Amino acid sequence: MSSLTSTIELLNGVHMPVLGFGTYKAIEGDAARSVEFALRHGYRMVDTASLYGNEHEIGAAIEASGVPRDEIFISTKVWNDQQGSEGTKRALSESLEKLRTDYVDLYLVHWPIERLMGETWRAMEELLAEGKTRAIGVCNHLPHHLTQLMAIAEVPPAVDQVEFHPWLQQPSLQAYLAEHDIALEAWAPLMKGRVGEVPELVAIAEAHRATPAQIAVAWVLQQGYVAIPKSVHEERILENADVFGIELSARELDAIARLDRGQRLGPEPDAYAWND
Ligand code: NDP
Repeated sequence: MSSLTSTIELLNGVHMPVLGFGTYKAIEGDAARSVEFALRHGYRMVDTASLYGNEHEIGAAIEASGVPRDEIFISTKVWNDQQGSEGTKRALSESLEKLRTDYVDLYLVHWPIERLMGETWRAMEELLAEGKTRAIGVCNHLPHHLTQLMAIAEVPPAVDQVEFHPWLQQPSLQAYLAEHDIALEAWAPLMKGRVGEVPELVAIAEAHRATPAQIAVAWVLQQGYVAIPKSVHEERILENADVFGIELSARELDAIARLDRGQRLGPEPDAYAWND
């Protein structure tokens, strides 16, 4: 049975935990407290971004947790106004300093920006070659962004971190990622806290003596994808990781597949930053 230490193997051989800890909007002490608590209770992956303004708290929490650095998988991201050749490199240096580490495990481009894509990706490849990150990837890239990136990349992205939950299943993106061996990492796996609004998830949760949040996370993992639920509350941090005993039946998987309505709870990748 899988657990919080279970991993998937990325296309460059690096192992990435299947369940990580999200930290968007965790600031002003919440990030430090929640990350230290999560690490002490077995989480082994932390996701942040320069945008979140919490990397310095996370760096301190990792040190305070006492968990050895090489047992923790850290991912962070280059923000839109940092993209470009020099900007991307400077952004990672600043992130590393705040995170109190010499390297991250995964460095991600936060949103696709067409006019900077080539320069930014070349810098990502150089950072990988320099050992400042163990893997490189992207976020919020749809198949048409990935096609453009793959045409210029010497090193393909190992991960695409995208909004993914029962209301937004993106079958064509899933097929593209599977075909190119790019790992799908689900952000907003808890539908930003709205899982309890979905009667089908509530019913499936009752049948498993679980919560809708646990069903939503288990559903991501059962498809072979990675999930990074976020909470600043201790009981929820434990709840969201207590999912490894849940096995959804084919009927339940079918019922969840039918919930897809292409509904984003976050920004639309093209409208947000493409052609920015
Ligand atoms: P999530 O789907 O993880 O939902 C987080 C919300 O759900 C919070 O309001 C949290 O509240 C609440 N919540 C947590 N646990 C439970 C529970 N058991 N039951 C009910 N509600 C719960 O959304 P996020 O947007 O935070 O996405 C997860 C992570 O993905 C982010 O934190 C970030 O690391 C990453 N991300 C990446 C993006 C990208 O562009 N690459 C964009 C957005 C997110 P509370 O904290 O009060 O418990």
